[in-house]
Amino acid sequence: SDVGSQKERVVTEEEWLQKWEMGNIGFHKEQGHPLLQKYLDVLLNGRSGLRIFFPLCGKAVEMKWLADMGHSIVGVEVSEQAVKEFFSEHSLPYCEEPVPEISGAKMFQSTSGNISLYCCSIYDVSSSIVGKFDGVWDRGALVAVNPCDRQRYASLMINLVEKNSPYLLVTVSYDPNKHKGENF
Ligand code: SAH
Repeated sequence: SDVGSQKERVVTEEEWLQKWEMGNIGFHKEQGHPLLQKYLDVLLNGRSGLRIFFPLCGKAVEMKWLADMGHSIVGVEVSEQAVKEFFSEHSLPYCEEPVPEISGAKMFQSTSGNISLYCCSIYDVSSSIVGKFDGVWDRGALVAVNPCDRQRYASLMINLVEKNSPYLLVTVSYDPNKHKGENF
């Protein structure tokens, strides 16, 4: 059935890298997401100088937006091309360094220090490496996670947030019998 086939579908990291190479990135939006604007107060809850996490961050422009408001941004993204495009498209100087705890991973950090993007799989990070967060913006992230990895992803996210931190999730509710789209 379609339910079964979608649950078993897997998009590999290699396929994601190819999407970036081919410029097949219809998910990327140049305009900040209207729901982040709408629910910004829920995320911030009157606090300033937060550590905000962007799982599967791509080159989301909202990272720049929140950084400009004085927050520290940490993202994780498997495509190095995406990470480099983020910094170049915002004319942000950055440096890159290896992440000793994760073989092959690199961390790209804006020279000003307030945006740190880890280039590796989300499943390679833990709170001992990236710390804990005061809030999460999950757009295009849970919905891009392979259905077979959802439990693992959820456990990781719970591990990465400080207790009672707001987690903004942009997702879809759908009938998997009727949906055969790109994301989950
Ligand atoms: N959140 C971004 C990007 C959404 S698309 C936005 O709102 O625009 C999903 C992104 O996750 C892609 O850029 C893809 O390269 C990345 N990705 C997919 N699997 C990943 C994984 N296991 N670890 C880290 N990044 C991953």
